[in-house]
Amino acid sequence: MSSRGNLFIVSAPSGAGKSSLISALLKDQPSDMQVSVSHTTRQPRPGEVNGQHYHFVTVDQFKALIAENAFFEWAEVFGNYYGTSRTVIEQTLANGIDVFLDIDWQGGEQVKALMPEAIGVFILPPSKQELARRLTGRGQDSQEVIDSRMAQAVSEMSHYQQYDFVIVNDDFDQALADLQAIIRSQRLTCASQSYTHNDMLVDLLAD
Ligand code: 5GP
Repeated sequence: MSSRGNLFIVSAPSGAGKSSLISALLKDQPSDMQVSVSHTTRQPRPGEVNGQHYHFVTVDQFKALIAENAFFEWAEVFGNYYGTSRTVIEQTLANGIDVFLDIDWQGGEQVKALMPEAIGVFILPPSKQELARRLTGRGQDSQEVIDSRMAQAVSEMSHYQQYDFVIVNDDFDQALADLQAIIRSQRLTCASQSYTHNDMLVDLLAD
């Protein structure tokens, strides 16, 4: 059976709930979907595990990977480098597994240019007030840090029209159901079904 997974680009401003949605989606470790683990030069946050949340590398290591053409896409986001491994994406898709890229709009633009059939999903918060509330979070950050996060969020959101689907994450369960509906519908497109059911179709259409 010939099969090829779908590539999903998932972007959102910080505070829209993207990571929680992707975690919920992959909670039961489905064998037919996988989130890509990016390389980054930023420092690990408490609780982040190398190889699980990111591959943490130095700037020199990252630049060597760029020179080797190891990245499918890469970008500088908030002063750090982030990139998606080319071979992992290609091999996973070739194995018929759907891949999720949790990347920013710059990466999304590159992926769409390289692979127009990739499906872009943008996640928005329901309002600026709610976004501010989520970004203020634990109340430990200075007003300056919060203002800068808000400005970055507005800049990321200004690119939502470059995506195929938009989810408003007001109610978490509804947003998760929306994401699952997008994935399911992509698996039912004529192109996907032709890959998945290649043998069946050959048999059905034989004289
Ligand atoms: P964080 O440092 O908070 O984990 O991520 C910061 C931003 O970088 C998020 O918008 C995230 O989606 C984005 N990002 C993470 N990995 C990649 C990547 O491989 N490529 C690109 N272009 N952006 C990424």
